[in-house]
Amino acid sequence: MEITINKTQNPKAKPDMSNLPFGKYFSDHMFIMDYDEGKGWHDPRIVPYGPIELDPSAMVFHYAQEVFEGLKAYKSSDGHVRLFRPDKNFARLNVSNERLAIPQIDEALCLEGLKKLVELDKEWIPEQEGTSLYIRPFIIATDPFLGVKPSESYKFMIICSPSGLYYPEGLAPVKIYVEDSYVRAVRGGTGFTKTGGNYAGSIRAQVVAHEKGYSQVLWLDGVEQKYIEEVGSMNIFFKINGEVVTPALNGSILSGITRMSTIELLKSWGVPVSERKISIQEVSDAYDNGTLEECFGTGTAAIISPVGELSWDDKVMLINDNKIGEITQRIFDTITNIQTGKEEDKMGWVL
Ligand code: PMP
Repeated sequence: MEITINKTQNPKAKPDMSNLPFGKYFSDHMFIMDYDEGKGWHDPRIVPYGPIELDPSAMVFHYAQEVFEGLKAYKSSDGHVRLFRPDKNFARLNVSNERLAIPQIDEALCLEGLKKLVELDKEWIPEQEGTSLYIRPFIIATDPFLGVKPSESYKFMIICSPSGLYYPEGLAPVKIYVEDSYVRAVRGGTGFTKTGGNYAGSIRAQVVAHEKGYSQVLWLDGVEQKYIEEVGSMNIFFKINGEVVTPALNGSILSGITRMSTIELLKSWGVPVSERKISIQEVSDAYDNGTLEECFGTGTAAIISPVGELSWDDKVMLINDNKIGEITQRIFDTITNIQTGKEEDKMGWVL
């Protein structure tokens, strides 16, 4: 399928690239492709960025049949676009599609569309340390219909946002509390997908966390509220007695691409790493006996976010004296250096 390009006649003024918030400004163009029952996905095109018209009865507004992705582009010092593992994002989008009964996309075509879009909007890739072009592919159900069923029409779109750091404080230890009333996902639910409903349901807990002076919550499993799942919208890692541990993917945890990259890096360095069930009690015990060495979250937006303080009921665990741990820092440096091209991409992650 040919991707057509309609360039804007009115390029927008760029924001102050030296002081970028996260996800607020959008580049000049966007990618769109439509799906209609009987026709399949059709008309892939790049057009000027702007509002789209939808019927108020469009199914996405009512039953949230939608999926999305998040990834980043960087520019190397010689001006080349660097996309970090975009193939993994489109593969994960199809995993989400399957769960939300949305038709599969052609991953290679979407990757081609993404590359064309980012090349066209290359000037929107910021170059200051810590900045990137945040890319948001998403699919929405567009049938004008109020019955609960899979939509027969969809829109796939990609928009791009020159962004600064997700946490304005940068790579600095954050305060987290263990959420033991709300849960994010349950067995058999949609936790392993990137669908808006998962996030809508998590916002209340985030509001409460902020009110209490914490950055985010640590989610426990939705069955026994005993086992650790994720931290905010990141995967979580602990270093206990020399071994790095992260919760195994169990259907309610998102399979993070930064998580995957972190595990692959640790293995390549010969650092012991295991994916298994880990309870909050085990972490608390490790804290008590002095073997809880590091804790950090992983995700595209912040890459790595060190956890400096973890509160569970009345217990406050100060991790590594609220300082960035050695492994935490090494993973952050390696991934960001590969992304920006400062370090050789031995893993073949940049496309
Ligand atoms: N968990 C959740 C719930 C997320 O939204 C994200 C962000 N996509 C992650 C984990 C981290 O995934 P990734 O490393 O692919 O960004």
